[in-house]
Amino acid sequence: MLRRRRDPQAQAAGEAERGQAADEAGGPRGDSPGGLHGRAAGGRGLTAVDGTAGRAAGRPVDDALDRSRLGPGLYVHIPFCARKCWYCDFTAYHHRPGRASRYVDDLMAEIRLYAADDAFASVTFRTLFFGGGTPSLLEPGDFCRLMACLRSSFRLDPGAEVTLEANPEDLRQDRLEAWLEAGVNRLSIGAQAAQDRLLAAAGRVHDWRAVEVGYRRARQAGFANIGLDLIFGLPGQTRDDWRETLERVLALAPGPPEHLSCYGLQVEEGTLYGRWRREGRLRLPAEEDEAAMYRHAVERLAAAGYEHYEISNFARPGFRSRHNLNYWADGDFLGLGAGAWSHWHGRRWGNQRFLGPYARALAEGRRPVAEVDEPPLKTRMADALMLGTRLVEGMPAAWFVERFGQTPEEAFGPQLADLAGRGLLERAGGRIRLTRRGLLLANEVWAALL
Ligand code: SF4
Repeated sequence: MLRRRRDPQAQAAGEAERGQAADEAGGPRGDSPGGLHGRAAGGRGLTAVDGTAGRAAGRPVDDALDRSRLGPGLYVHIPFCARKCWYCDFTAYHHRPGRASRYVDDLMAEIRLYAADDAFASVTFRTLFFGGGTPSLLEPGDFCRLMACLRSSFRLDPGAEVTLEANPEDLRQDRLEAWLEAGVNRLSIGAQAAQDRLLAAAGRVHDWRAVEVGYRRARQAGFANIGLDLIFGLPGQTRDDWRETLERVLALAPGPPEHLSCYGLQVEEGTLYGRWRREGRLRLPAEEDEAAMYRHAVERLAAAGYEHYEISNFARPGFRSRHNLNYWADGDFLGLGAGAWSHWHGRRWGNQRFLGPYARALAEGRRPVAEVDEPPLKTRMADALMLGTRLVEGMPAAWFVERFGQTPEEAFGPQLADLAGRGLLERAGGRIRLTRRGLLLANEVWAALL
């Protein structure tokens, strides 16, 4: 999968341990193409956007932004991949069925530990997200017993959004049926590009045909909510390639996806791309080409009926990712699995990233927590504002008041006044949002809050 840097799970696992997970797992070292220690994050500095499609200044807060209906969320991390993609710096392990089965045993032990705590057993989770890594690699039997354990341990809202990240080559009939039977109602497919030469040059294990075939199978099986992840700014990718990718995605049979995530490639140290860049062998598109690709996505997808609701995300009406909206609303979520992060009532904690220490803690009956982060109030408020203003329509100021008991202006008066004076931030219809110019300079805006 590919996930942008502001995703708490990507932030959690993407740093600090490059090269170590694969070593511990017996995989190749360093950034060899076969190694497994990374994943990508979005945006080669390209948080710059100028799209305003989907904005609705002054529109009342709609259901999608009703914070009281978003969380809490449950995240389950499956840290296995068939092969490491060449751009990916995420910690992951070579997939082997036996190892994955043992990991599911450990996950179930962790689930039961948290379920014994009334703080988690007494709440109703509104979203469940299986991320990775590649959760679709789990054998159907392992996935179903994991899901049964989650359902018997936690309260899951009957209308919960249940998402599974899947790679195209795993979209087989038996798995699709097992996922549906277990209650998965949303698929997030890592498609990335429509040109086989670009997919091969990114180390992906599938071609575009696999996306078309897998997507059709998923529809035929009954999935009515499917998202695709795409990357722009890949080595060798032209503006025409990107246009063609979007056209092919929109032409997918029997109908286009409900959700699209368009991430700008970010080259990370510790990946094969990172090494090629150091060696001067990575031919990336020019920044103006990358910006043009982004602008084209904003315009083309708006014309195709998608709402541009977050910097990198587009959805048909009613199909925004509720799980991710809860992240951007600074909501509570419980993360389970090696390397998963949680955020609960202002406290954050991250699990052991290596499978060995993760399993040992659980065997000893302990939560496998490796680090706890209890940031001061000012940092939490700045984080909430940065996350909320990723939403193109802006962050309802009520979210901030509800969480911190004060308005954004009371907390960051001088900074907000300065940003407003420079035309980067504005109040509109009870929301605080980046202006068109502020969207182009989002990192500068957020830096001013720190
Ligand atoms: S499938 Fe590729 S991009 Fe996704 S986590 Fe695995 S190695 Fe990284």
